[in-house]
Amino acid sequence: MIIDCHTHLLPRRVKTDRTECVRKDKAFGALFSSAKAKVASPEEILTYLDNSRVDKAIVFGFPWEDYETAAQNNDEIWDFYEKYPDRIIPFATFSVLDPGLAHKECTRTLSGGFAGVGELAMYRNGWATADFEALRPCLDLAEHFRVPVMIHVNEPVGHDYPGKIFVDLKALFKTVSDFQEIDFILAHFGGGFFIYSLMPEIGPKMKRVYIDTAAAPFLYDSRIFSVAVQSLGEDKVLLGTDFPLLGFSRYELMLDQANIQGYLRAKILGGNVQTILNRKR
Ligand SMILES: [Zn+2]
Repeated sequence: MIIDCHTHLLPRRVKTDRTECVRKDKAFGALFSSAKAKVASPEEILTYLDNSRVDKAIVFGFPWEDYETAAQNNDEIWDFYEKYPDRIIPFATFSVLDPGLAHKECTRTLSGGFAGVGELAMYRNGWATADFEALRPCLDLAEHFRVPVMIHVNEPVGHDYPGKIFVDLKALFKTVSDFQEIDFILAHFGGGFFIYSLMPEIGPKMKRVYIDTAAAPFLYDSRIFSVAVQSLGEDKVLLGTDFPLLGFSRYELMLDQANIQGYLRAKILGGNVQTILNRKR
């Protein structure tokens, strides 16, 4: 079974015309003002899955700063899941800028049956210590419902691109170590954060930390797969494409180049994320 753990679906009205959201939501504007930044419809996601022989996808929206837009996005993801329950795994996302509204939306979606939270991101100003603190009530909920939480993390070095933000890695580590019953999926190879699992005082507290491969073809040499598996563990790397940014074939190519085949490839392509999703209450 192949599961893509990182795909985005935005509200249909945004796909039709993104101008208003580009103007109103600074973070969205930074990522999507270029017409080259693709927005997929539910139909396009299904076609992508079929054409790539991907069985299922975790689908989530965008962390809109406007509450109504975030709720609408989550509702459209839920509708998509209800139409295709065998293909779509719904995650809920929202902005953490207003902790009260974040908690309201997290409660609404998780009690409604969403399979996880994420991709949480602070695209406007980055992840500061206070943002991770503000997230704690939502993490209590995720722990209660035994659902995974995906956080956007990117590498602190290298070339700049829209959506590349500052991440307070110390605060991130405090968060994962304070919530050791939560499966955290750190997107984009966790910005390299996984390497610290080799430190004896850090590793034991990262037992439930996973990373996804989203955007790797734009960021890394294919050796990143083996390095991540060796340092964090063979159960910890999850296929995520960031569709519609990229499709599955680019990742297959990287896995081929890294000579990752058989049992380990099957775990990365779906087995590992299945284990996490099976824990849901
Ligand atoms: Zn991301």
